[in-house]
Amino acid sequence: MKKYIIANWKSNKNLSEVAFWLNNFPNEPESLQVLHGLEIILAPPYPFLVSAQEIIEERHLPIKLAVQDLSAFGKGAYTGEVSAFNLQDLDIQYAILGHSERRRFLKESDQLIADKIAEALSWHIKPILCLDKPNFASQARFLSRQILPKLFLAYEPVTAIGSGQAEDAHNLSLIKKELYSIYQVKTLIYGGSVNAANVGSFLQVCDGVLLGGASLELSDFVNLLFTASESLIQL
Ligand code: PEP
Repeated sequence: MKKYIIANWKSNKNLSEVAFWLNNFPNEPESLQVLHGLEIILAPPYPFLVSAQEIIEERHLPIKLAVQDLSAFGKGAYTGEVSAFNLQDLDIQYAILGHSERRRFLKESDQLIADKIAEALSWHIKPILCLDKPNFASQARFLSRQILPKLFLAYEPVTAIGSGQAEDAHNLSLIKKELYSIYQVKTLIYGGSVNAANVGSFLQVCDGVLLGGASLELSDFVNLLFTASESLIQL
């Protein structure tokens, strides 16, 4: 079973920075061999999805694309929204939904996020639902028992995001038990100040990690990927 490494670039990078990052991502056979135990998922800002996909295809990079949000509405008169229909000719396999920054700055509600999840699933886009601490026990209450196993659940304590204060891996294993007793989830991701030094400990407990800051500099990210791959050998 592959481990998931999800890179969320948020509103960082411009077109030339995106091109630099992807054009320099290692793609020689030795690197690909080392990385084969990882599913690498990249969520760039919307305007760069097309060029990101082109470079990924041209260079045969082992990277899948995600969006950082998705409209709850279909195609139509929803100014400023990006619908799953808009994305249909792109190869978008995942959608990060309910990130704590969207809950906080854009006032996204649990119901709206549940609607976005339903929309994503109807277009065969796998939702990565972010839940935060201390609200995780109720944030997915609008999702049915049939839907929950179809999601990736990303547990992301708000205090750990961007702070350098990652959750302790032992605490995470306790929270994992709690999460599994509340929700019927198959895939649990951890996010919050993950870096090359701690990624191995989180991959021992979870199915993957979600990264913000540590995904921005290519050299940091590649270092983290290699460390993550090495840690899998010990599992
Ligand atoms: C995030 O914003 O989801 C996140 C995990 O950020 P960081 O890795 O920077 O803590």
